[in-house]
Amino acid sequence: MSLNWAEVRNHNKMKNCIFCKIIKKEIPAKIHYEDKDIIVIKDANPKAPIHLLIIPKIHFKSLNEIKSKNQKLLGKLLLTAQKISRKEKFDQNGYKIIINTGENAGQSVEHLHLHLLSGDYKKSGQI
Ligand SMILES: [Zn+2]
Repeated sequence: MSLNWAEVRNHNKMKNCIFCKIIKKEIPAKIHYEDKDIIVIKDANPKAPIHLLIIPKIHFKSLNEIKSKNQKLLGKLLLTAQKISRKEKFDQNGYKIIINTGENAGQSVEHLHLHLLSGDYKKSGQI
């Protein structure tokens, strides 16, 4: 197997990626939902009464790495947010989806993820 440098760098980042470790069950986490493409966990530092992270199982550093061929997965991430909001009955109360892209935008884990927030998140003053 030969990898180019970009692949080697990406592989090394994946090895140290906390979300990849959670996906591979190397680190325990409260898994809220899981299917073959996506895992949903509770945010460790919730900014709202409901604060979930919707994470694709494929490692993308951020939204910047998404290409046209990943369109279906991106759509599935959003639909997963909608399905969870319906199943847990906060769809009518309202919810917010945030994708922080880059450190300056508050992205703390370099593995694409959506924040799904509901409840009284306005009080936090951080979102
Ligand atoms: Zn990762």
